[in-house]
Amino acid sequence: MKQYKNYINGQFVESQQVFAGINPATGARIADVHEATQTMVNEAVTAGQHAVKRWGTRSVTDRADMLYRIADEIDRRADDFLEAEMLDTGKPISLASKLDIPRGAANFRIFADILKTAPLESFRTELADGAHAINYAVRKPLGVVGIISPWNLPLLLFTWKVAPALACGNAVVAKPSEETPGTASLLAEVMQSVGLPAGVFNLVHGFGPNSAGEFITTHPDINAITFTGESKTGTTIMKAAAEGVKPVSFELGGKNAAIIFADCDFEKTVDGIARAAFLNSGQVCLCSERIFVERPIYDRFVQALVQRAQHIKLGDPNDPLTTMGPVISAGHRDKIFSYFDLARKEGAEFLFGGATPKFGNELDKGFWVEPTLIAGLPDHARSVTEEIFGPIAHITPFDTEQEVIQRANATAYGLAASIWTTHLSKAHRVAQSMNVGVAWVNTWFLRDLRTPFGGSGLSGIGREGGIHSLNFYSELTNVCIHVDA
Ligand code: NAD
Repeated sequence: MKQYKNYINGQFVESQQVFAGINPATGARIADVHEATQTMVNEAVTAGQHAVKRWGTRSVTDRADMLYRIADEIDRRADDFLEAEMLDTGKPISLASKLDIPRGAANFRIFADILKTAPLESFRTELADGAHAINYAVRKPLGVVGIISPWNLPLLLFTWKVAPALACGNAVVAKPSEETPGTASLLAEVMQSVGLPAGVFNLVHGFGPNSAGEFITTHPDINAITFTGESKTGTTIMKAAAEGVKPVSFELGGKNAAIIFADCDFEKTVDGIARAAFLNSGQVCLCSERIFVERPIYDRFVQALVQRAQHIKLGDPNDPLTTMGPVISAGHRDKIFSYFDLARKEGAEFLFGGATPKFGNELDKGFWVEPTLIAGLPDHARSVTEEIFGPIAHITPFDTEQEVIQRANATAYGLAASIWTTHLSKAHRVAQSMNVGVAWVNTWFLRDLRTPFGGSGLSGIGREGGIHSLNFYSELTNVCIHVDA
């Protein structure tokens, strides 16, 4: 049985309270996870406060070099990370080896690069008497940053926050999801082996309420909170952060639209939408749960998408031919099935899926859901407005550009959208009309880590990525110097 411990002030720390790590592909217990107590979280914060005094004053080159070493060590231990990620999530090897683990390392490299090259603002102010002033901004660490991340892309999303926080000279107290503690625990080993000073990176395991999550968000000496997860958890955390007027960065849920025009490149679009609906069993915040297709190609498109769904191969995550894994937990599978029941009550037509696959082996004890496509619901149906976060999408026809813009934007979320057309001006027009943080054209989930990433409405607060991350994880001081005439 693997033992996933806390990592506090450079030491691995056991707890009396242990909870089970479960492999969702089989339902088997794979790890003992040591739940951090309030005292442990307090110790982690104190360690961070001490460590930041040294780490935060190191040169940019020093800090960047350390980030490169972390990235290299993740690469060197890629097989260990892959095993841990697949056991925690049931992701197929074809996905985890290409997406999750390489991005874990890439997050450290890119933020090291950005740190070294990011410009700082400078303004010359002309004064009436012929004198002038020079303004320039300097970046300083915030202090101890609390990081809370979800289970769907565990290493990718955890390092997406840890890397820029460390780059900017902060210490962190970071909590991965209770569902996926494995790769974060390996990351602690990496931090220790590359010689990151004790107390700079602290890892605490546990749950949200009355556990490590709440202990972080309510701690008076945590200077900022960055969180990825459900919108309603964001509300709870924001209330906790309000107490100390702490900066928050929130990457939350989505109910993203895909808009397919009749003039799209048909085959490429069907492939793109199959990916956007079902990648990672639909458990990507950016997944398209609402698909709008222009009426002249609607029937043909539905038929082609159903065919793609039929070819998705669910099965053993270690089989290179497997393209879809389970969902994360029994609880999450039940939530998805409750939405299937709701959709049926609301009058949905199930075009494909809607059930649990049968394997005839140990996988039958896992948490599996077929890729599912539904149609026939009005835009205001709950199954079409609420985030389900599973391998399910609703598909519907539209007639005009104005109509589809209005319908796609009729959501409380505002994370992402994709537009599929070969008409250049229409592509720009519609993409720019989307009330979202990220609008893709003829692609989906194509990420340049220098670009702003985040959402509006229920999808989040702020932007991370590139300079935007540096801005969140730093305190800027403007220095203004008067120069006599
Ligand atoms: P979740 O909100 O249930 O949990 C996320 C993290 O918050 C976990 O570590 C959990 O332990 C912790 N947590 C829960 N309650 C807490 C509390 N009261 N105080 C402090 N911490 C608490 O989310 P999840 O189910 O793990 O992840 C799925 C959600 O994440 C979906 O809504 C998805 O859209 C969203 N997500 C968003 C993005 C994005 O970039 N916008 C990316 C990935 C996932």
